[in-house]
Amino acid sequence: MIQNDSIKKLVDKFRENKLSHVFLVETNAKENALLDILNLIKIMDCPNNYQENCNKCNICHLVDTNNLPTLEVIYPDGQAIKKQQMENLKMTFSHIPYISKYNVYIINDAEKFNAFSANTMLKFIEEPLKNTVGFLITNNKENVISTIKSRCEIIKANYILNDFHWSEELVNFAISYLYDIEILKNKSIVVNKKIIEKKYEKSEIMEMFQIILQFYLHLLNGVLDYESLTKLQKLQPKEILKRIQLVNELLDKMNYNININLLLDDFVLRLED
Ligand SMILES: [Zn+2]
Repeated sequence: MIQNDSIKKLVDKFRENKLSHVFLVETNAKENALLDILNLIKIMDCPNNYQENCNKCNICHLVDTNNLPTLEVIYPDGQAIKKQQMENLKMTFSHIPYISKYNVYIINDAEKFNAFSANTMLKFIEEPLKNTVGFLITNNKENVISTIKSRCEIIKANYILNDFHWSEELVNFAISYLYDIEILKNKSIVVNKKIIEKKYEKSEIMEMFQIILQFYLHLLNGVLDYESLTKLQKLQPKEILKRIQLVNELLDKMNYNININLLLDDFVLRLED
């Protein structure tokens, strides 16, 4: 589900064929905005009439795993977005999109263009390719190079961030669970047995996965302050995104499903491959 209304409105623009070719999304929560944009792409491209967590089609699956050939998600390379990254993008999108209606690129931390990459980006925006849509995400549009900013349709996408009050026990359990599956790579039967033995209520298990979701979102920002989990900082953004999607799906399914064991096993198995 798209959380933010400004991004949700783009679905209508898309249906009316009135989508701009580049957006600057200013947000207080970059990861949330990114997830909303990925959901928007699914709605645009799903060959079925997109339903929540479409598991039927290949396209939604490719978006979830960040393997859709017509989608490029770019992060700064170190401190800056580099010229080479923009050259690569131009190359990748020099063809008309296949599989999906649009070639879509998402640039995270759009304030990190340097003079060289901005120049390449400008040329790219000024000669808009047919059926290409770009999303530039930033915390503060005032920090984005003005020549780029002036060519974008600006969208404000703010999110209500929960003031989390988690139980310490669940935080600790979430840490040890992640340690088991991610670092020790224990099998689902072993790790999920530990949850069952705790005899947690469904709501507690869901809270634990909310905590895990926050861990992964923090990892996308490059920080996770738990010593036993520092190894996770080696995960690539693409791998983290896959995990975020899996946890989101798990939480969604838990709402409706009674057989939690089966869902948990499925989660660990999908995380492994
Ligand atoms: Zn689909």
